Amino acid sequence: MVSTRHWNEVEIAVVGGGPAGAAMAIRLAAAGREVALFERWHRPRWRASGVYSSPSTRTELSELLGDGAAGSLVRPISELLVESLSGASVVLVHGTDGPAVGVDRVRLEAALLARARQAGAQVHEGAVVREVVLGSEAGAADAQLLVSTPSGQERWRSRLVVGADGPRSLVARSAGVTRRPLPVVRAGLSVHRLDPAALPDHLPMTARLVFGAGWYVGVTPVPRGRVNVGAVLSRAELQRRLAGKGAPTAVMNRLLDEIPRRRGELWRNEPIVDQVTVTMPLAHRVARIAGPGFVLVGDACGYIDPVSGEGIGRALQGAELAATAIDRWRNGDRSALSRYDQRLRARYRRKDLISWILQGFMGQPAMLDYAIRRLDRRPSVRRVFGMVMSDLAPPERALDPRFLAALLAP
Ligand SMILES: Cc1cc2nc3c(=O)[nH]c(=O)nc-3n(C[C@H](O)[C@H](O)[C@H](O)COP(=O)(O)OP(=O)(O)OC[C@H]3O[C@@H](n4cnc5c(N)ncnc54)[C@H](O)[C@@H]3O)c2cc1C
Repeated sequence: MVSTRHWNEVEIAVVGGGPAGAAMAIRLAAAGREVALFERWHRPRWRASGVYSSPSTRTELSELLGDGAAGSLVRPISELLVESLSGASVVLVHGTDGPAVGVDRVRLEAALLARARQAGAQVHEGAVVREVVLGSEAGAADAQLLVSTPSGQERWRSRLVVGADGPRSLVARSAGVTRRPLPVVRAGLSVHRLDPAALPDHLPMTARLVFGAGWYVGVTPVPRGRVNVGAVLSRAELQRRLAGKGAPTAVMNRLLDEIPRRRGELWRNEPIVDQVTVTMPLAHRVARIAGPGFVLVGDACGYIDPVSGEGIGRALQGAELAATAIDRWRNGDRSALSRYDQRLRARYRRKDLISWILQGFMGQPAMLDYAIRRLDRRPSVRRVFGMVMSDLAPPERALDPRFLAALLAP
């Protein structure tokens, strides 16, 4: 590790100030833990990331920020229209436990970081963690972090490091738990546009998910009269489209030209309000999510594809479980971190299986059309599928052979 003169000490270091890291910092600080959070950017900024989330996200945000503040950062989404280019379509109506949400992402991250500060966490923005040397689970040795800040390099010691640093997690790499990347690399593009047809923020609207050949586009209404448009495609397809058209904005516009127009869809003619940003690769896999001196949370724990719309929910729910486990561990429960590791990995394994099945359908447009049409015709199957996708029912319900038979039988 590069040598600097001075050591800073903290009980828990959190790397990353996205939804997972900020939620961790709030919960740990509220439990009386001494926390320092390091976030690369000087302030939250738009980047290709998730905005559509399950009803549980609204509950988590209300717990973290209070009901009023949480309500101003999300727009209710009452249903999701899923379509393919061949005209197959189905409407997934969200369950009775409350609507899904479209998130005002940049304001959400700013609000969570402000809340973390208020709860007593040190929040260092513009602070890039360059190197992590982990300590031990038994707490016998401290972890060491080398951090670049606007005023120079700093060295930190902590009892535990939380990796909330997203899909290319430095903490996961330092712990040696990153698994081999997937053979197919996918990229996500995303941008916001004004929507003159937007209803007032508190009224529910419909989101859209359109599948093309090897790509899909999601359109999610979000607060302040805007829609978020996100596209996912393979790296090869992105490169092919970039070679023909030049810039991500042109690629996005061309994809939008390929999806059917719907009546009253006024956002298509409106200007973009930020910029088309690209994230690649999307997928990330790890062998463990907690171990000697570290805990992973959010995308750092592993991520497959945004199609299941569960990244933000996982980040917030994972932070709640991880904060409880860390608090217990600091209070002397030596197995708390390994229980967190086992519980969360078991939970994610089942939902990931559904993501893999969806990936299989997405690679076979004729099968995807078939499944969409079956869902449309079979209300009880559709209801279960919608609930599993919204995290309102356990993934086992959709993995049950009887469910699959009911979905796929002619
Ligand atoms: C195109 C696209 C569409 C998506 N759509 C959806 C969707 O509809 N619904 C959904 O729920 N999810 C979606 N997701 C996934 C969702 O964005 C993530 O699951 C969510 O952002 C995870 O939050 P996080 O805090 O774990 O990670 P991130 O949001 O990635 O935050 C990690 C933070 O760590 C910081 N960081 C990283 N390394 C360092 C370092 N070394 N030092 C300091 N800071 C560091 C980063 O700057 C960043 O702020 C989508 C993702 C993409 C790319």
